[in-house]
Amino acid sequence: MKLFDLNDKAVVVTGGNRGIGFALAKGLHQFGAKVIIAARDQQRNQQACDAISANSERVFAVQCDVTCAKSVEYAFEQAENWAGGLYGCIANAGVRGAGCALDEVNAMAWRATLTANLEGTMNTFQAAIRPLKAYGEGRLIAVSSLAALHGNALFTDYSSAKAGIEGLCRALAIELAPHNITVNCVMPGWVDTDMNADVKQDKRLFESIKRLRVPLKRWASAEEMVGSAVYLMSGAGSYHTGDTLRIDGGYHIG
Ligand code: NDP
Repeated sequence: MKLFDLNDKAVVVTGGNRGIGFALAKGLHQFGAKVIIAARDQQRNQQACDAISANSERVFAVQCDVTCAKSVEYAFEQAENWAGGLYGCIANAGVRGAGCALDEVNAMAWRATLTANLEGTMNTFQAAIRPLKAYGEGRLIAVSSLAALHGNALFTDYSSAKAGIEGLCRALAIELAPHNITVNCVMPGWVDTDMNADVKQDKRLFESIKRLRVPLKRWASAEEMVGSAVYLMSGAGSYHTGDTLRIDGGYHIG
């Protein structure tokens, strides 16, 4: 068994057109995978494919809104036809949340966070299961957050959604084990992406998170999430299922 070889394994990455998803797509491609970038903005999806490699035949862009089961099903159909079979999927697409106290939050905004993050992961994995079973083995990875474990004031919606994703993955890992499909989460800490641009602009908050909350005293780059995904996706992670890998600079022990 080659430990970190993804040669010609086809993997869908939702939200792969920027931020963590783009870094994951690029990283998997470097290890030999065929990568399908699935997000709403198809122009940006295509630009992301070109940025990974303008000449590669191992990148494909597909329009996909994870909040809509039909859109996800259609995206997976196109991905499977293009690749000739699917081996893996990373449910990475997500939104941060309302940023509002629970006694003031608008119920629609709260639901929208749950829909994009939790239901989006459910829609994605539901569409992935049939092709992965047909392939005969597979890997599902969801992107959780340390908000699933740690209280995050003003983000009850986001914390609930990410904690839900953790539960979904553990239950699904049992369901899919007989099919040789592993299911795991990666749990990033603070990562420097568009999602946190406003926090980064608030210099005092940014510095206090780094100095007081993160033992490694810095935020992560999106590229620092790649190793865990390659490990779980490849032969190296073949006996690893139903688990969460924390990539948080030690936040959980700090
Ligand atoms: P960004 O905001 O940088 O990127 C979000 C990505 O998700 C984009 O590609 C976006 O593409 C896509 N997306 C959003 N909504 C949808 C949708 N309805 N359907 C399809 N695609 C969608 O976020 P990050 O890269 O920072 O975050 C990626 C994941 O990591 C998220 O799940 C986030 O919760 C999680 N995470 C991030 C952390 C951080 O510190 N940045 C920390 C912990 C977890 P488009 O708009 O084109 O659809």
